[in-house]
Amino acid sequence: MADAPNIHIAIIGGGPGGYAAAFLASDLGLKVTLIDPELNPGGVCLYRGCIPSKALLHIAKLIDETRHAKNWGIEYSDPKIDLAQLRFWKEGVVKKLTGGLGVLSKQRKVEYIQGRAAFENSNTLRVSRANGAEDSLTFDRIVIATGSRPAIVPSLKLETPRMMDSTSALDLNEVPGTLLVVGGGYIGLELGTVYAALGSKVSVVEMLPGLLPGADRDLVLPLHKRIEKIFDSILLNTTVAAVKEESGGIRVTFDGPEVKEREKLFDKVLVSVGRKPNSEIPGLEKSQVKVGERGFIHVNKQLQTDDPAIYAIGDVVGEPMLAHKASHEGRTAVEAIAGHKVAFEPNAIPAVVFTDPEIAWCGLTETQAQKDNREIKVAKFPWGASGRAMTIDRTEGMTKLVIDPQTERVLGVGIVGVGAGELIAEGVLAIEMGALAKDIALTIHPHPTLSETVMESAEVFFGTSTDVYRPKRP
Ligand SMILES: Cc1cc2nc3c(=O)[nH]c(=O)nc-3n(C[C@H](O)[C@H](O)[C@H](O)COP(=O)(O)OP(=O)(O)OC[C@H]3O[C@@H](n4cnc5c(N)ncnc54)[C@H](O)[C@@H]3O)c2cc1C
Repeated sequence: MADAPNIHIAIIGGGPGGYAAAFLASDLGLKVTLIDPELNPGGVCLYRGCIPSKALLHIAKLIDETRHAKNWGIEYSDPKIDLAQLRFWKEGVVKKLTGGLGVLSKQRKVEYIQGRAAFENSNTLRVSRANGAEDSLTFDRIVIATGSRPAIVPSLKLETPRMMDSTSALDLNEVPGTLLVVGGGYIGLELGTVYAALGSKVSVVEMLPGLLPGADRDLVLPLHKRIEKIFDSILLNTTVAAVKEESGGIRVTFDGPEVKEREKLFDKVLVSVGRKPNSEIPGLEKSQVKVGERGFIHVNKQLQTDDPAIYAIGDVVGEPMLAHKASHEGRTAVEAIAGHKVAFEPNAIPAVVFTDPEIAWCGLTETQAQKDNREIKVAKFPWGASGRAMTIDRTEGMTKLVIDPQTERVLGVGIVGVGAGELIAEGVLAIEMGALAKDIALTIHPHPTLSETVMESAEVFFGTSTDVYRPKRP
């Protein structure tokens, strides 16, 4: 690789976009300054997003499994939950990971500044350090990686610890007797799953007709059926018209055609109605950076903003707001700054909902194909026909391929079932490699594994799946 030019870059924000960008920049020989308010890099993902939520979901899964063990002839008594120890363990995971990133920063000689950055002009930042010092620092290029924060609905704003957002929900200060989750997206469902496992009676309210808007309905159905049993209620086509604090909790008024009980009292309410990009960076107006209507910073395929000296990556530039998208954008931006010929144009970005069962998809969805009026063929393999699914007593899953009928190329993959989040990586690789359905069918998968369901869904496409009998039409 050619020597990197002598460039000093600043990265504002130490999330998975920012630290991935900083580390690659250092690996490519650039001089790097990374600025973030926390003691170590990590951002939302490590401190109050992906990692703590997955640590808690692991516990939820364990509790759920012990409850199911009765069906297999093993009976556990009800779990005793030590919340302080649970929090300690979750915080330990976060500390280890973020501390590790701090060490990696030092090893790579990334200058890490604990503080906040504001723009003085396109190349100069005013940095307010955590220790109170202020500096004016100039760079050749600046990468904005300031991420996002929970969206706030004015009508749901109440200053009380009974109202939570995802950050305070992850703090796990207590397990409320009753919890209302406002918003049927992935964050609400994941956190609702945690609280339900710990003993809360959880209700979820969603204004649209289905949970997880955007995901294919056949993937959502098995999850809906399972959480219907775990949650107290799932209210669809319903909005929260008002919230009011009373001595015994939050009185919530519901609105919608299917509402049976117009008012209900909850111990706590978790609002998870989406996230807003952090594009209101002080002084940004002194640059040529353009911010679009929904607050996302406008960038090209090299992640360069309308200001040639400034790049932007991650949640602050648009959907999907996911950590792995942020990291890949961060790496592309740095390569572009280093003078490489690159563009961020993936064929598939996986999305995973870490509920139980998990839902994962990548590439073209059936829903999107219908919207685009695009001709596709869909091959589905039901997990009821999977030996491995049977051995873990989880046959409600399904794996499907979205295939181009002319070329037989795999355009999309969708999976619902235990471990879908791990299995989807094969789909991403298949799409990125331009795999045909035949390639997947001919790839020998290990037995007995859930990964076989990917291979067998390709066999279903050809009508030759070993475990699914499809009589030939006369
Ligand atoms: C509960 C929850 C669960 C999630 N689970 C997943 C998951 O399982 N998988 C997944 O892919 N994604 C998940 N996400 C989303 C994921 O966290 C984000 O997509 C990801 O963190 C975005 O990375 P980023 O680098 O763009 O920014 P962020 O991680 O948001 O980091 C931005 C950083 O910039 C800092 N910052 C902001 N302004 C300034 C400033 N002026 N100066 C200095 N620093 C500044 C912020 O303090 C923050 O530390 C989850 C999110 C939440 C809330």
